[in-house]
Amino acid sequence: MDNNSKFLSAKRYADLTIELLTKHNIPPTPVNYSVFFLYTNGSSPKLNQQINLQIKHNKPLDCIFIEGLFNQFISNSEQIHQAVMSPLNESINSLLAKIEEQVSLDEEAAVNLKKIDSALEKTNQPNSLTKVVNYLLTTANNSASQHKKLSEELSKTTSEVSDLKEKLDVARKEAISDALTGLLNRRGCEEKLKNIDIEDTHTSLAIDIDHFKKINDNFGHFIGDKVLQRVANAIKANTSGLDLTVRYGGEEFVVVMVNKGLQEAKVIAEKIRLSISNLKLKQRNSDNYLPQISVSVGIAETQGEKTWLDLFKRADDALYEAKSAGRNCSMVAA
Ligand code: GH3
Ligand code: MG
Ligand code: MG
Repeated sequence: MDNNSKFLSAKRYADLTIELLTKHNIPPTPVNYSVFFLYTNGSSPKLNQQINLQIKHNKPLDCIFIEGLFNQFISNSEQIHQAVMSPLNESINSLLAKIEEQVSLDEEAAVNLKKIDSALEKTNQPNSLTKVVNYLLTTANNSASQHKKLSEELSKTTSEVSDLKEKLDVARKEAISDALTGLLNRRGCEEKLKNIDIEDTHTSLAIDIDHFKKINDNFGHFIGDKVLQRVANAIKANTSGLDLTVRYGGEEFVVVMVNKGLQEAKVIAEKIRLSISNLKLKQRNSDNYLPQISVSVGIAETQGEKTWLDLFKRADDALYEAKSAGRNCSMVAA
């Protein structure tokens, strides 16, 4: 397919997407847009199957359904960029380059014709030749201005596309993060793990807040949430940008220390544990401090596991040992 038809088909899918969203009364948010863009260009048959079934059974195409598809088919991969943005961007850019080239050629032709025209005026050439030159001059000017207009429209589309891409990137980031703590959520963890070779040496920490239920019971959910945030910050502060820091469930966290062995991981686990037990949290509207917060930690280094869940299971078993040993401590998996 040449660039022109590539662009036209990308543009057609974009138009069809908007039509479809309008028809079903779906707001054109980045999430909705990208799901239906994939639907119209048919690059993900399983997604199409699910939408078609929903339509066939007269079930609503509502936010929850669409978000589910987004999470399943888009946020889990680099698909947004590959499937939605790249074809549009690529074709727009090459078309723009072509048009710019054409515009400058046309401008040049117009200038040359003008020179001929004024030369002809001076030399009193036959009328018919002047007419031809005039005709060419008008055509060249017209096509130059048409090209300019098209080029302007395309530049506008390009900026709309990059705007949309930015919004999609934000939506994608939101889909893989935990809203309360900003750490990765479980889905985000799974996605990032796809790019890490489990056969190398890594260590996983399973971290669980001790007696967290009591904090909620005694001080309320709001304070409970603040504690979760402070614990998440302490985990983040003691790990590197390469490590994955995950809120795995309610008050349970997982850290994957990428390419780090047991010795290094043990030191970091203790740093995290101590910094949490040293947190001083004030109750709202009072001078009273909350009782000491603590976490228990299980540590496991890869031992030829084939799946990450197997490694997490060993860290979790060690966490259970730490709880049994009296909490506020870390234990290494067998
Ligand atoms: P243990 O030391 O054995 O881990 O005891 P625990 O009380 O920490 O464990 P348990 O599993 O009994 O309780 C976990 C509590 O975490 C119960 C649940 O209400 C609370 N929780 C889960 N998610 C959230 C949340 O997002 N916010 C708040 N405030 N509490 C949460
Ligand atoms: Mg707990
Ligand atoms: Mg727990």
